[in-house]
Amino acid sequence: MKGKPRDKIWKMIEGGEKEKLLDHAAALHGHYCPGLALGVNASIAALKRFESEHTGMEDVLVIVETNNCFSDGVQYVTGCTFGNNSLVFRDLGKTAGTFVKRGEKGLRFVTRSDAREEWAGEFTEYGELFTKVVRERDGTEEDRVRMMEMAEDISKFVVGLEADKLFEIESVEVTLPEYAPIHDSHVCEGCGESVMSTRTIERDGKKFCLLCGGDKYFELDGHGMHLRGEKK
Ligand SMILES: [Zn+2]
Ligand SMILES: [Zn+2]
Repeated sequence: MKGKPRDKIWKMIEGGEKEKLLDHAAALHGHYCPGLALGVNASIAALKRFESEHTGMEDVLVIVETNNCFSDGVQYVTGCTFGNNSLVFRDLGKTAGTFVKRGEKGLRFVTRSDAREEWAGEFTEYGELFTKVVRERDGTEEDRVRMMEMAEDISKFVVGLEADKLFEIESVEVTLPEYAPIHDSHVCEGCGESVMSTRTIERDGKKFCLLCGGDKYFELDGHGMHLRGEKK
């Protein structure tokens, strides 16, 4: 539908098409895995609860507590992403997310510590394969293919489970950041590149980007958030 690019996704959520949503999320994430399925599962459950009281999805934000697979399931299904400022990353290392509509209480989904038991018994071989292929980096190509196929089966199983079998769900008070401001751009006097005004530094009356101005900046990678750069 014109002007509503997420309409198809919203219809899948309303229609409870969990496996289809998982397939699309996996296309974004690159592989199927239980973490991704957990993110998809929690997001569908949360958005459905919102819909029972509201229409539309504007002003929904998610605070994720991990930067692993779970967060990609959340980003695809909720549309709260890194790029549109409705994804908040709280670096706590928990497979958890808090879904919020502005002006209301949030719903925090945290994966139950025994959630694995919901699927581990059905897919006993997966744990061994994962250890061999991923942790020890010692599997054959055949092991890797078998593991990826099994991960898809597990993901489909997990996404189909009722959310309260997998998560503790609680209503929480949330303090949200204000709407992300729109900043002017400046052209750095060092490199000539355009840079957001809040990421500039003044030296001798000239504006520079953080690299040219020699200031520290934040970087998020697989290990978490770090301060990088040299303060000159
Ligand atoms: Zn994954
Ligand atoms: Zn520069």
